[in-house]
Amino acid sequence: MKIILALTLFLSILSCQAQTKTVATGKNPYYSRTDTTHLNVSDAEWKKVLPNDVYQIARKKDTEFAFSGKYWDFDGIGTYYCAACGNPLFLADSKFSSTCGWPSFYETIRPKSVNYISDNSYGMERTEVVCGRCDGHLGHIFDDGPAPTFKRFCMNSLMLDFEPKK
Ligand code: FE
Repeated sequence: MKIILALTLFLSILSCQAQTKTVATGKNPYYSRTDTTHLNVSDAEWKKVLPNDVYQIARKKDTEFAFSGKYWDFDGIGTYYCAACGNPLFLADSKFSSTCGWPSFYETIRPKSVNYISDNSYGMERTEVVCGRCDGHLGHIFDDGPAPTFKRFCMNSLMLDFEPKK
């Protein structure tokens, strides 16, 4: 009897830990991986709920240093979500090895995962990529990617929230 009780307790602890891991992605009140409603959140509110390094990229269009992020040299299998709002952005299948120092993908999960904005800052003509749900700055897109799209979504690691495939 004692053995059965101990086993039950052990299994419930294991199950509890698994659940904790699953829900640990809820990072702020606006974070959802399933709600596709477009967010209209003020800059002041984002500043309150996001870690400062994420806020500086998402809302102030900052860029992390090349080769500094955790995903530029990473090949885990799973899904990348917007670190600010949880919007599904990329599958690891579309990630490719890029020497630019930022995580690079050739396509998004859905066409509406992101939006595109013309960016002429710093004397360059580029296309900015923003999250389709929260409008947060993610990075830029270039035409030098691999087949089949020949696009390179050059993203900031700090704007990506990776969930390994179970
Ligand atoms: Fe987002």
